[in-house]
Amino acid sequence: MRPCFQANLIISEDRASLDATMDCKKILEELNLYIDGDLDRDLCERLEAHLKDCERCQIVLDTTKKTIQFYRDQAPLELPADVSERLHSVLRARWKRQ
Ligand SMILES: [Zn+2]
Repeated sequence: MRPCFQANLIISEDRASLDATMDCKKILEELNLYIDGDLDRDLCERLEAHLKDCERCQIVLDTTKKTIQFYRDQAPLELPADVSERLHSVLRARWKRQ
């Protein structure tokens, strides 16, 4: 059986870091869960280890957090039921027309 050269290469290149198995794409997929605090601890630690070394993901995380914060600050926590109902019917009508 041939050894898996690819796996050995990744591990030796990045031995000290836990993010060897987690690339940026994976990070971005889990980012929403991470921000919401819904990520399990193991994954969360690996994500944070990756973030420490990856400026690109840090920027995405930062921007996403700020965007979420912005909308949380802007929107009331709960719309009155009638407003919510009207909003939804307008949105439904829009979607149907497209
Ligand atoms: Zn990254």
